[in-house]
Amino acid sequence: MLNTENSSTIQAATELLIRYYAGMEQRHVKPVIEPQSILNSLPLHPPADGENVGEMLKDIEDKILPGLTHWQHPGFMALFPSNASLPSLIGEYLAAGMAVNGMMWDTSPAAAELEQRMVDWLRELCGLPDSFEGVIQDTASTGTLTAIIAAREKALGYSGNTKGLSGTKRLIMYTSDQAHYSVEKGAKAAGIGSENVRKIPTNDAMEINIQALELAVKEDIQQGHQPFMVVATLGTTSSLAFDPLLPIVAICQQYQLWLHVDAAYAGNAFILPEYRHYLQGVEHADSYLFNPHKWLFTHFDCSVFYVRDVRHLTNTFSANPEYLRASFTDNIRNYKDWGLPLGRRFRSLKLWLVMRWYGQKGLQAKIEKHMSLARLLRQLLENHHHWHFAAPPLMNVLTIRFVPDNSLTSEEVDQLNRNLLAFINADGRFYLSGTVIRGQFVIRIVPAQSDVEEKHIFELYELMQQGATQLMPD
Ligand SMILES: *Cc1c(COP(=O)(O)O)cnc(C)c1O
Repeated sequence: MLNTENSSTIQAATELLIRYYAGMEQRHVKPVIEPQSILNSLPLHPPADGENVGEMLKDIEDKILPGLTHWQHPGFMALFPSNASLPSLIGEYLAAGMAVNGMMWDTSPAAAELEQRMVDWLRELCGLPDSFEGVIQDTASTGTLTAIIAAREKALGYSGNTKGLSGTKRLIMYTSDQAHYSVEKGAKAAGIGSENVRKIPTNDAMEINIQALELAVKEDIQQGHQPFMVVATLGTTSSLAFDPLLPIVAICQQYQLWLHVDAAYAGNAFILPEYRHYLQGVEHADSYLFNPHKWLFTHFDCSVFYVRDVRHLTNTFSANPEYLRASFTDNIRNYKDWGLPLGRRFRSLKLWLVMRWYGQKGLQAKIEKHMSLARLLRQLLENHHHWHFAAPPLMNVLTIRFVPDNSLTSEEVDQLNRNLLAFINADGRFYLSGTVIRGQFVIRIVPAQSDVEEKHIFELYELMQQGATQLMPD
């Protein structure tokens, strides 16, 4: 596959990427493009004969790069990021070159053992309890689905695995109305059914309402149903709210419910000890996840999933046909038995390089920088009374509403904010998103890019002020 003769091809591909990064800020973060224009630029049929690599790279540069939404652009502040870094890139590249499949210990002992050590390193860096054992999954959605299936089987004494779900009581799970859509999707895929996901209302801070949660559990028990699980969120997607773990733990213990904690984005910030108060009680959670591929400078995909008792995973997911017989049974991990996929990418390599390259202090400084950029933007905007903050920013997600005149109706202000968002995004230097909080449309800003600096925040501030001036009703 690889020899000295084709090193120049590797070099050309690397140079393409270097040019891409050098010109990044000249590109619109989100491309301005007609649907199907890229599709129509691609040949209808595959080539009969192999083609020249130079032409392939040229096509990538001419047809693909202009059609990307540039997730590594410092102005990408719309969704939670998928931020990346050089050590992570090298880790991905080397893993691709080794091209192993870490399904089980025998299929690559180094992949299994490095993964074990890396999830332990991350657990320590983020202040998670020693009792947690981890595995790397592709996404948080997969981690949550895995948790729902394991919780379902624990509640059914593993009979769902063998007999299926018909004839069981209605299994009910609970989460807040701010939970990520992956919770409901997981419930559908796990055979729970979306109607059996109770979306508990939230308080003014967008945290789950504990009284409402307990009441719902009691009511379901009275109805003869079987509550089995609560999914708490640390850092909701819309406004980065944190469900209070301690009272949720108390309810889970009283009613014997599996507690799964989704900290997909905010979990990365626990590398800073001053945010760990949100973790109080987490040692009682049954499962917990966060995504280094969002905010820990590690390429997509890399979601870390922890459980307190791994037997609930292996009892549910292990299958041992003769052709997958392991050489040893003790002291090794066969990660294929810890979740759904058999085949697994060698994702721990990039994590290893990222943690060694930056060290704990370097990673802490990078996350703290993002917090300070959010504080800076807030301070700049607070000088003008027409910027309202929908929620107190607990980390680096700002939810902001432009309210130029208190005599406007809420609908008029919503429309103004939608127009303002369109104005900002049309400029091309930034890509922001909107969300609805307590019925009001707000602009949502997440400064968390690997390369975002103060100067970008000042530029964004100027642009927001410019938009506000233009849209100000006279
Ligand atoms: C982003 C996000 C998810 C989904 O993440 P994927 O890894 O893309 O599946 C789940 N929960 C929360 C709170 C998120 O922010």
